[in-house]
Amino acid sequence: MPALINSYTIKSIDNIVCLPGTGILRLVMTVDTDLSSFLPYINGYVKKCRYLPQINWIRFSFHGFPEKKGNWNVAIKGKEIIVAKFSDSEEAKGVAREVINLLNHIHNIKGEITPDYTPWRPPKVFDILTFLPKTNCKKCGYHSCMAFATKLAEGEAEIDDCPELIKGSEKFEKLCSLFERKSL
Ligand code: SF4
Repeated sequence: MPALINSYTIKSIDNIVCLPGTGILRLVMTVDTDLSSFLPYINGYVKKCRYLPQINWIRFSFHGFPEKKGNWNVAIKGKEIIVAKFSDSEEAKGVAREVINLLNHIHNIKGEITPDYTPWRPPKVFDILTFLPKTNCKKCGYHSCMAFATKLAEGEAEIDDCPELIKGSEKFEKLCSLFERKSL
């Protein structure tokens, strides 16, 4: 079977705009194929995607492929793929290659995947805020817990980005369960 993506071009590797001065990088690349019609297959294969079919957009946590070795964020729209968060550009380039490999792998086994057209329904900002520490300590890179809750609801931040949330705690688990709900 021909590959889904045969070539890609890295457009930029720079600081994440909403986290200026943190040294956290994101990579933007374009691929030679419009991935819009492929997104339901990604949604069917990758766990806990945030898929918005109305704008042909998907976002998911990426841990490396084929081996798990980190935690990055991937967002795809049309021919554009954004990968974050990196501490240096060499790491970014390596992870970008692995993202392409993952997408080609999903394409190779497409016949075994049930495409999932279920849209992601983001939780409400105030529901998210309920489970945050509300200390406004800024360790997540945002100015307040409310700002962080807003970014979580918009799919631009991850729960793990708040170092004050203790994994396994009741609040952490409840927050996770808010995001696991795919439909209202
Ligand atoms: S790190 Fe957590 S507690 Fe601190 S501002 Fe961000 S969301 Fe709030």
